[in-house]
Amino acid sequence: MKIIMLGAPGAGKGTQAKQIADKYSIPHISTGDIFRANLKAGTELGKKAKEYMDQGLLVPDELTCDLVMDRISQDDCKNGFVLDGFPRTIPQAEALDAALTKIGQKMDYAVDVDVPDDNIINRMSGRRACLNCGATYHIVSIPTKTEGVCDRCGNPVVLRDDDQPETVKKRLEVYHAQTQPLIDYYKKQNILKSVDGTQPMEEVFRAIVEILGA
Ligand code: AMP
Repeated sequence: MKIIMLGAPGAGKGTQAKQIADKYSIPHISTGDIFRANLKAGTELGKKAKEYMDQGLLVPDELTCDLVMDRISQDDCKNGFVLDGFPRTIPQAEALDAALTKIGQKMDYAVDVDVPDDNIINRMSGRRACLNCGATYHIVSIPTKTEGVCDRCGNPVVLRDDDQPETVKKRLEVYHAQTQPLIDYYKKQNILKSVDGTQPMEEVFRAIVEILGA
């Protein structure tokens, strides 16, 4: 099963993508996580990506597409994968379609986790991330067991630079201008499914499983 998660930054698509990956035993591919891992490892790609990420802008397509195409051609993706944060532009979606067409495949579902902007801004201010292992939390809905400390690795959890309020506003603008058009793109392909992302996380997941099938 090949799934794309759509939705504004902070809509909860990452959390849902991880659960989908677990339930259906397919890899979770998050371009944001890949860029952050590169940044942590001090690679050239990480350094270049940071310049854009810290401003709430998208990393250019030429830095993004090849790395995803390379990832989905790996062996563990042969039974499917869930894409989280990719595609984010029409050219990225076209590059993905072209790569899959070449090997006689296509995406099965694009799941849009729909949350209004006001709601997103409130949520993002409570988001906390561990810069060491990448785990994400929320001070209200998914708190750490000990305040400010990552449950998984014990390092501090912080408000990421790209979750700062001004950056979030910019990311939402970028989302509406560049990523929202993908909703129509996948509607035309008849693979778009929408879920109400304002519901509790478990309900959102239940709605997604209903779409994908148990
Ligand atoms: P995320 O964790 O998915 O919200 O991604 C964090 C940041 O990484 C975004 O704000 C972008 O700067 C960058 N990024 C992630 N995925 C992409 C993509 N598909 N295209 C361009 N930039 C991306």
